[in-house]
Amino acid sequence: MALSELERELALRLSASRIFRHIEKLCDFGPRPLGSPGHEKSIQYFEEELKSYGADFETADFEIAVSYSTKAELKLISPEQRTIECLANYRSAASPGGGLKADNVIDVGHGTEKEYDGKNVSGAIVLATEGSGHPVTKSELAAEKGAAGCVWINRQRGRRISTYGLARYGSKIPIVSISYEDGEFLRRQLSRNPITLVLRVDTDLGISTGEHVIGIVSGQKRPEEIIILCAHYETVPGSPGANDNASGVAIVLEVLKVFASYQPSRTIWALLSTGEEGGAIGMRAFVDGNKAKMKSVKAVLNADVLGEGTKLVIYKEGRWPNRTVQASDALNRIVSEAAGDLGYHLVPAVSAMGLADTEAFIEAGIPGAWIGRRGWHYNHTAEDVPETIDVNGLKVAADILTVASLRLDKSVSLDSL
Ligand SMILES: [Zn+2]
Repeated sequence: MALSELERELALRLSASRIFRHIEKLCDFGPRPLGSPGHEKSIQYFEEELKSYGADFETADFEIAVSYSTKAELKLISPEQRTIECLANYRSAASPGGGLKADNVIDVGHGTEKEYDGKNVSGAIVLATEGSGHPVTKSELAAEKGAAGCVWINRQRGRRISTYGLARYGSKIPIVSISYEDGEFLRRQLSRNPITLVLRVDTDLGISTGEHVIGIVSGQKRPEEIIILCAHYETVPGSPGANDNASGVAIVLEVLKVFASYQPSRTIWALLSTGEEGGAIGMRAFVDGNKAKMKSVKAVLNADVLGEGTKLVIYKEGRWPNRTVQASDALNRIVSEAAGDLGYHLVPAVSAMGLADTEAFIEAGIPGAWIGRRGWHYNHTAEDVPETIDVNGLKVAADILTVASLRLDKSVSLDSL
């Protein structure tokens, strides 16, 4: 299908520099985990922006008990003494007072099920490279196998440390992350002799309020039917989150600005969400808490990780060890065709970490699609900064989301998605 005049015109209203400026602003607020000053400042920023577009906005709250680490320490004490730079993962369990000391340190590769075969990790500290599965399921697996603590090793060189969210109730055992280089050092030591580590994580439990911000452009003909564009603005602690996910938020803001300058038939929402990191709990709370309203939602397009990486992808499936979540084929087709008609290439992909913020919608029977980028380098690290962003690449994603949303809006019926 060729692009219509209207599709061309709306795409031309999108600005890569404007999108990039949102990313710079959000990163200036600092990391944005739940309950942080950066989180609070982001909400104010969204409200001001949305007002300036002439869009309406609402907020939706949820409360969650979150444990924050106040201290994280990893020490090699035998065969030599060395302090290893580490960060606690988001919602990691605390170690026993004074730290968890283990003479039993075991390398479990990537920490997948079969890599535990034949290894007795009872009471051990396990070393595992990040990736090859969702951090939440990997942390659960380590605890289930009897490990007392985990050290996660970055999968890329560069002395970076990546941390992850560990679901609503956190992990059962303390988990810290270290760099690839320090991981290599520990593995080298371990290949020669047994080693002794002391791992310490102190935590503080607090109740945080998550606040989703919804920008609304009301439909002219069928206002009761809602098309959602969503992106999460919260980050893991310590990361400015330029790519993950100021990029998606910035794109969604820009797309909504364009829809505010055009009168859609249906209602368009920019749903800027929080509580995504480590299990998409915020969106689940939102979908569960708004069941009646969810009947009006016809489609959800999620923008997550669109600023840096190699391939631009659309996820067709999200895997978990015990279940698989399918994105909507029909919706994926509409988005992929929009990309193709714009002259872009969107690669179908499978996510090893579920379907993020689309998952709660899909499980409630609402069609969802997620576009993102693969092959990124800095997510969940202190180096996820605006300097790494592919600025014009942001506009590619914004073009696709705009044309796809417009096609949804122009459809006679969205009931067959
Ligand atoms: Zn993300």
